[in-house]
Amino acid sequence: MSEKQLSLPEVRSKLDDADKLIFFTGAGISAESGVPTYRGAGGIWGSYNYEEYACQDAFLRNPEAVWSFHNYRRELVAACAPNEGHRIIAQIEQERPCTVITQNIDGLHHAAGSKNILELHGSLWRVRCQTTGEKHVDLAVPFAARRDDGLWWRPDIIWFGDALDERVVDSAMQAAVQADVFISIGTSASVFPAAHLPVYAQQAGAFLIEINPEETPLSHVYHHLMRMSASDALGALFNGT
Ligand code: NAD
Repeated sequence: MSEKQLSLPEVRSKLDDADKLIFFTGAGISAESGVPTYRGAGGIWGSYNYEEYACQDAFLRNPEAVWSFHNYRRELVAACAPNEGHRIIAQIEQERPCTVITQNIDGLHHAAGSKNILELHGSLWRVRCQTTGEKHVDLAVPFAARRDDGLWWRPDIIWFGDALDERVVDSAMQAAVQADVFISIGTSASVFPAAHLPVYAQQAGAFLIEINPEETPLSHVYHHLMRMSASDALGALFNGT
């Protein structure tokens, strides 16, 4: 966006006037809880090759190795708690209509109390039978993935090469194009189709805010840029802190 940024009070007044609010979150919102991000320093794919641990072929070849990695991720996340950013979003949801569209699989929006959540990439805490497709939530750490009947549960997350759940993507697109204000938080805007959502929202006339300490390939579509951490920016927008 080429025009001058609005002041913070002007942005707050846009938020006050908004009927439909979207929080679109990525790994950056959970970084302050201690969950490793995807890219950058400490990013989890710097240490683990996804072709061995996070794709369907790897699971078919060696389910034990894939589950050992996912049980490690469960252990990492189980030691983390929602942070101020997650809590502010959950608090806003109690006050007005809003939707959380997240790329995260960590379940921290649920843990903070948000209810209206679309998990684009699934959940580390949900499992799906590899053979029957049956799903359920199981918070065990470690999770015992071999069923008594010999079949395997797999994590119900979108691995590299998997298709997204069309119903979830459709709901996210509908919410994005109906949004009055669309706030992206802690996403590098490099994973598709998720990264299309801010563009759809912008084309449909929403006011867009990007919260990220770093510039992203999509920064130019936003009307207001907040180069700070998720919790500081959300505090400034909603709590005046
Ligand atoms: P990403 O790792 O590609 O990008 C993270 C972004 O967060 C970066 O742009 C970084 O500048 C920003 N950031 C870092 N600290 C921040 C902070 N304190 N406040 C605000 N922003 C901060 O993450 P992505 O865009 O979500 O894409 C990664 C993919 O990997 C997603 O598909 C997701 O499913 C998966 N993933 C999920 C988790 C999780 O569930 N917590 C963690 C790692 C990866």
